[in-house]
Amino acid sequence: MSKIYNFFEEHLQSIRKLIQLLFFVYFIYLSGLCLCVLGVIKRFILMGGFYLTSTLVLLLLTLILGRVFCGWVCPLGFIFDITYRLRMKVSKLKFLPTVPEKIHSKLIYLKYGVLILFLYLTYKLSTYAFCKVCPLGTLTNLHGTVISIILLVFFLIMGVVYPMFFCRYFCPIGALLGIFSIRPLFKLKIDDKKCVGCKLCDRRCPVQIELTKNIPQHECIRCFECKTVCNKDAVKFGIYIKQKNNK
Ligand code: SF4
Ligand code: SF4
Repeated sequence: MSKIYNFFEEHLQSIRKLIQLLFFVYFIYLSGLCLCVLGVIKRFILMGGFYLTSTLVLLLLTLILGRVFCGWVCPLGFIFDITYRLRMKVSKLKFLPTVPEKIHSKLIYLKYGVLILFLYLTYKLSTYAFCKVCPLGTLTNLHGTVISIILLVFFLIMGVVYPMFFCRYFCPIGALLGIFSIRPLFKLKIDDKKCVGCKLCDRRCPVQIELTKNIPQHECIRCFECKTVCNKDAVKFGIYIKQKNNK
């Protein structure tokens, strides 16, 4: 068992990439249906049908593990993951660019407003409101509109400037999953006994979480870049009942 665990830890990022790629292919080329959580909820609101099974499974998973959907499944997350890595490679950046903390700490709430707005519009206008502007719609060719193409280009550019720009500030699915992962069963934390305070993890987090200060579990997309970069094995992911300062 420990051999499997060690193998998984050692190849964590490669395994994540492979899983993301498989889901990307599934969502973009094989699925005739956009399976985003918001789409499913909208179908539920509009049709009153029982489209909720996959959503319930996902929400349960989120309650247990946090926002793994964002870091391992979402095709948009996969695209924005590639864009910021490309930028790092091309610009030979060691550390990720950051949005000034004062602005960042406020902008992260924008996605909750987007979630409320589109759920309201869906209910009020009886239409798949978010699908009409969803950047993913452009790729799946399901609901692609001029607006969604413009937004995709905009977020791709912003995703090059600031890692995961769309996921951090605008994604309503991230917001919804964030609500369900305020206190997930499995938490990310730093082992104070092992941490030497080098802050490598802070500088490699694509959603700008300063792990050495505080880890808001609902903002963490479970990419585990912090775990990979920490050479002291101080970043832990597990069940922690008592957690001081969310660290
Ligand atoms: S990279 Fe590891 S040792 Fe360095 S600050 Fe982060 S948790 Fe601590
Ligand atoms: S805290 Fe770690 S796992 Fe969470 S988003 Fe940042 S780098 Fe990824």
